[in-house]
Amino acid sequence: MDVSLTRSCNYDCSYCNQRQELDQPMFDLSESRRKIVSNQRRTGAEWIAGLNAFPFKNDYNKLIFSGGEPSLHADFFDIVSQVKGWRCKMIVTNLSFDVEKLIAACRREKTRIIVQPSFHFEFADFEEFTGKLAKLRAASLLSNFIPVSIVHLPDLSVGHEFREKFRQRGFNASLYRFEGYYKGKFSYAPLDGYGGIKETKEVLYSSCAQSVKPNGDIVYCTTDTYTENCVNYGNICDQRFVAIPQEITVTDYGHRHISAASWTRARQLADGQVIWQGKNYRHRTPLNRLRNLLERKNLAWLATAKHLANLLQNKMKKTGDVNQTNLD
Ligand code: SF4
Repeated sequence: MDVSLTRSCNYDCSYCNQRQELDQPMFDLSESRRKIVSNQRRTGAEWIAGLNAFPFKNDYNKLIFSGGEPSLHADFFDIVSQVKGWRCKMIVTNLSFDVEKLIAACRREKTRIIVQPSFHFEFADFEEFTGKLAKLRAASLLSNFIPVSIVHLPDLSVGHEFREKFRQRGFNASLYRFEGYYKGKFSYAPLDGYGGIKETKEVLYSSCAQSVKPNGDIVYCTTDTYTENCVNYGNICDQRFVAIPQEITVTDYGHRHISAASWTRARQLADGQVIWQGKNYRHRTPLNRLRNLLERKNLAWLATAKHLANLLQNKMKKTGDVNQTNLD
């Protein structure tokens, strides 16, 4: 479950995929602004009461606090430390907040949370960032599965350079592939599904990430967090719940947002044949259960294991295959 505490962000990265339009191919992301929709926020007390009383916690492997930048919520430290009873809590963040406040809140509440930071080189300061990583690691709050994420922009080497700098400081960093339109080229997912084309078709569609908007509405996938009036399946803070179908039929496949791609699967309506399956779309297979368990345990050797697995996967990919694997 991915709870977007706010869609606001204190950074304005030129490559932010929240700049990608839903309906039109783009040449340059700087043509567009980050989309801040559905940003009506809930208070910390509402989130804490709603998420603590949520009756289906055990249906989820992890609870992710994301955004925008989740730490911009005024009650961020209270929310992440006082929400309890979930298998695993994670924060996906640009790490611009005071990590000592998070460490203190976790100690006070005797709770555990895994921080998965992204390094955004247009805004973040490397020295300050690594200082925060060291504090989080000392407090066992830093993810060992994906310790630092850096976007790889196809025409720039800056991502590689920072990855090396992080490694020299003893932090594993992972380059993830840019998703969507970049300088006129579309990459990562099928263009007829996530490329913002006008034509669209009916497909069977499922998502393994349940998105929750800043107002508490539970929606089907990340695409819906960009839409004001979409179907919702209840509201966390109002304690109103509606059963969520495992698979739905969508008639707007061509308008799904790129940020949903890695979590979703699309199948042909006629024969059920898979059209697209994102890298994070996980069936409850024994292997995936093991992977989820290891990620929750946050074992120290995970980063090295993931790095080796990515190397192997990238080597085995045939040229021309859609490659979603991180560039380790
Ligand atoms: S930090 Fe993340 S959400 Fe904020 S502008 Fe950069 S890419 Fe977008």
